[in-house]
Order: sequence, then structure tokens, then C-alpha cells
Amino acid sequence: MKSFGYAAQTKTSPLTPFHFDRREPAANDVVVAIDYCGICHSDIHQARDEWGGSIYPMVPGHEIVGRVTAVGSAVTKFKPGDLAGVGVTVETCMVCDNCKAGAEPYCTKGMVGTYNAKDYAGEMTYGGYSDTIVAPEHYVFSISPKLNLAAVAPLLCAGITTYSPLRHWNVGPNKKVGVVGLGGLGHMGLKFAHSFGAHVVQFTTSESKIADAKKLGADEVVISKDADAMARHAGSFDFILDCVAAQHDINAYLSLLRLDGAICLVGLPDQPLPVAPFSLVTNRRSLSGSMIGGMKETQEMLDYCAEKNIVSEIELIGYDRIEEAYTRVIKGDVKYRFVLDGKTLKA
Ligand code: NAP
Ligand code: ZN
Repeated sequence: MKSFGYAAQTKTSPLTPFHFDRREPAANDVVVAIDYCGICHSDIHQARDEWGGSIYPMVPGHEIVGRVTAVGSAVTKFKPGDLAGVGVTVETCMVCDNCKAGAEPYCTKGMVGTYNAKDYAGEMTYGGYSDTIVAPEHYVFSISPKLNLAAVAPLLCAGITTYSPLRHWNVGPNKKVGVVGLGGLGHMGLKFAHSFGAHVVQFTTSESKIADAKKLGADEVVISKDADAMARHAGSFDFILDCVAAQHDINAYLSLLRLDGAICLVGLPDQPLPVAPFSLVTNRRSLSGSMIGGMKETQEMLDYCAEKNIVSEIELIGYDRIEEAYTRVIKGDVKYRFVLDGKTLKA
């Protein structure tokens, strides 16, 4: 299938128009015409090869929503015209213990990313900064028509990546929960933690985001550069979700955990985060991480959002503004997710 999108040709080149081929749909494939695609900080890390191993040309994008245009003969969940979403994963082995448990991101054979990856057949995957995507129905999600479709797109990565650990660590009433970094992931983590009934403290480096954090559900907001404000919360948190994309002092947050409290990293800075052993040993604290979420859990999250009317706060932009968006995301100047409008993609 002929496809068109925007690609990075090298780690330093701006994204430019790019024609490429996708596979013809197989029996279990769904073809989705893309209406909107979110810009995740992971797109920037990979387009600029900050994690190493990037493959070019790269069409980023794994927060994809649109409309089904065709389905293979074995597809049962979708028909042409349905709203559909595709996230970070497009192939896993389906038979290992983790896949069978619905934890596909942790597939022991290795999950295949929606872009910047080779699938099990050796073909390059290309992401959602494009007009169409082809994916097996197991990795395609039903989207409710009740919600603003553009604002649903970020749920496919930022949404599930924060929903999954908050559920895993049983965040809910009578829990004091911190969210670090008010960006794309952070603002979804804040919305979910608030919706689950926890007492939520938003940590931010940006004084300009205090009012928004409160509107989005924060019970308290702490400017993380203010050592006195941080110290007032020492030893008091059950759980902290760290959504920061850059180097920062993890020990400052570990010291805020109570007995048996846990920090979960979802942010993926390209450099190690030094940990002082005393930060962990004191209060028997845990430091852990989490990657996106399983397919069943992603559909559960989307259904939860439809029921509770939860979407992302977005700035809808045209394809001519990708570079500007990347520059602003890196500066932390995003409220709170850029979403590319497919109507501006002209071949
Ligand atoms: P984002 O929109 O850029 O948000 C990151 C936020 O971190 C910023 O808005 C800023 O919030 C804060 N921040 C930035 N630089 C900082 C610094 N030097 N010190 C302290 N805080 C800083 O990024 P995102 O799209 O939410 O992604 C966040 C991270 O998660 C990225 O590394 C991304 O690759 C990763 N990620 C992981 C998964 C996973 O499966 N684990 C999935 C998706 C993304 P304030 O202005 O509030 O301080
Ligand atoms: Zn992402």
C-alpha cells in the first residue's frame, strides 16, 4: 500500500514529507485512515537518536486515531467506518507467559514498536505521522464517538502509560500520590490519580503551570526547585509516578516516600539517574518502572475515559509545525500534548 507521511532522515534533520510502502492487509489486519496523531516525547528521543539504535528514515507517531477503511477476512471486532486507535505496540509473540497474561509490552520475544522497529518478518514499521496504518486487530482499539477524537489520540500512549502503573500500585482513596512533571504523561497521570480518588500532589519545575495543575485535579502543587516545600512532604507519600523526560535528582523524590512507598519511573531520560542507597534503605522504599500497558488494559482505559469523560488537554497543530512543537516540548512549553491534524497532511 502506498503511504505518505513525515519522516526524519537522520538524527539531525528536520522531519520532511516522505512516501513509503506499507504491507497489504493480511487476514487479521485492520487498515486505519489516520485523523490525528499525538506527539510524544519518545518521538523526539527516537527521531534524535537519544536512546541509541534509531533506524532511518523514521516516521514517528504512536498516538494514533482514525477511521477503519478496510479489514482482513479474519477480523471480527472492526468494520469499515468504525473509529479506531493504535498505540505503541503492533506485534508480540502472543504465546509467552507475559503475552498470555495480557502484559504484551513485556513479551519475552520482544514487542515490536509502531515505528523505529523491524517486525518479526523483518519489515520496517512506520508510525502515525502519516495518512494510514495497517495493524493486526489485537493491537487496534475501539474508540467511543462520545469523546473529542483529537483529544483521545494521546490516550494511546500518555494515557495507558500512566493508567497502568496507577492501577498496578492500587492508587485510590486514602492514598497520597505524587506526579512528577506536568507534561503529556504527567497531566494524564494527574487526571487518572485524581479520578481514582487519591490525594494528588503535582510536582513541577514550572511556576506557570500551578493554576492548570489545580484545574486538572491536583490537591496540592509543589515547585520541585523549592527545597523547603519539598521537605514539608518528607516521608509522606504512598506512591510517586515520575514522568520526567530529562536528568533530575531522583533521591529528592525517594526521600518523600513513607514506609514501603514506591516510585515508578515512566519517564525515560537518556542518562542514568544516580540513586543513593540510603534513599532506598530508609523506609524500605522501592524504585521501579513501567512500560505502556497491555492491550486488554488499554481498551479498559479507553472505556474508562469514555465513561468518565477523560481526554487529553491538547494543542492541535498542522504538519508544518512539527519542528516548532519538538522545540517547545523540549523546553517543557506544552499544554499539554501537541496533536497533528491529519487534514493538514497533503501528498
Ligand atoms: P513531556 O511532555 O516533555 O513532559 C515531560 C515534563 O517533565 C515536562 O513538561 C516538565 O514538566 C518536566 N521536565 C522536563 N525537563 C525537566 C528537568 N530537566 N527537570 C525536571 N523536570 C523536567 O514528555 P512526555 O511525552 O510526557 O514523556 C515523558 C517521558 O516519558 C519521556 O522521557 C518519554 O520518552 C517517556 N515515555 C515513557 C513511556 C513508557 O512506556 N514508560 C511511554 C511514553 C513516554 P514541568 O514543567 O512540570 O516540570
Ligand atoms: Zn509515547
